[in-house]
Amino acid sequence: MSALALTATDGSARTGTLRTAHGEVRLPAFMPVGTHAAVKAVHPAEVRACGADILLCNAYHLALRPGADLIDRLGGLQELMRWDGPILTDSGGYQLVSLDGVASIDDEGATFVSPYDGSRLRVTPEEAVALQARLGADVIMCLDHPVAYGAAAAVAAEATERTHRWAERCRRAHPGRDRHLLFGIAQGGFDATERRRSAEVVAGLDFDGVAIGGLALGEPPPVMEAMARAALERIPGGVPRYVMGLGTDAELLAMVGAGVDMFDCVLPTRLARNGTALTCGGRLSLRRAAHRDDLRPLEAGCPCPACAGGFSRAYLRHLFAAGEILAHRLLSLHNLTHLGGLMVGARTAIACGRFAGYRREVLAGLAGGPDSLPAAAVAEARTLGYTPAP
Ligand SMILES: [Zn+2]
Repeated sequence: MSALALTATDGSARTGTLRTAHGEVRLPAFMPVGTHAAVKAVHPAEVRACGADILLCNAYHLALRPGADLIDRLGGLQELMRWDGPILTDSGGYQLVSLDGVASIDDEGATFVSPYDGSRLRVTPEEAVALQARLGADVIMCLDHPVAYGAAAAVAAEATERTHRWAERCRRAHPGRDRHLLFGIAQGGFDATERRRSAEVVAGLDFDGVAIGGLALGEPPPVMEAMARAALERIPGGVPRYVMGLGTDAELLAMVGAGVDMFDCVLPTRLARNGTALTCGGRLSLRRAAHRDDLRPLEAGCPCPACAGGFSRAYLRHLFAAGEILAHRLLSLHNLTHLGGLMVGARTAIACGRFAGYRREVLAGLAGGPDSLPAAAVAEARTLGYTPAP
């Protein structure tokens, strides 16, 4: 039985739930990233309160430190992290691109050199799946081989073929549809025909879900969107669809409109640590001198602990200047609440058959600046649950 239960569609956009061993995930869903088994500076209960149903952890990093066997002995990721919801683990394929020079690839698998102690970690497709199961992941990702934007066509084609062979081996190694769902990853470089072909091959392997990988690797946003749309053409509607590594509000809503169900990105917490708040009127940088005596909250109407708690931009700016980690915490909570609200708005709008209008309002708000009237209206709509315009 499929783990996906759709409750409404609006054009290509859809809403519903993904069933996992640790509960249901409301779709479309944004997954905060907890690379090392923690969403940086945020308590799990706070992550939940920001609207997240599911987290992403990185199997590659956790296998190196503290090690899968230790995590298994300590009761698994959920027990260790005190997070009682679902967890999706990334296989390590992304690190084959991002850690250029510390990983080598052959047809049998990948070899990583630990940045912590220089030791070697050998991962085959079968071992990647077993490793994630040992960590206790609800959603296991196949080992894949992405390529950076600008890679030669022959290099991308070879990586895509390898990804397909590895997907078959992962599929044989793990039955899926049990405690651990198994998602395949489609690649195809930056060629639309290859993207379609890869999505068709991977979708044909009958995974519990299909991810589109190898995007957000330096390509311009229109290329990213075109590649994702090409792949989506070949992923059947009854299969959960996940685009890895996105993104901005505009990217997320473009992809929700194209029928994508799941996303992950380090952006909200990384921006928070740089003093940047995501708002319905676009990004707000606390580094700007204009906020030195600005007593307004980051965003009027935002229910997060920073805004609802009465913390001013002036105070937060001061905390950043003083290097106080409370600033990182409060901005992370705000940014995660912002993306949680974006998804609440999307789900509600799809259920009301008003997704196109919702997307237009969000984009108009983003164009208006952090304190514009449309942005304030969008923020309020998200807090209350989106009400369709007449
Ligand atoms: Zn806020």
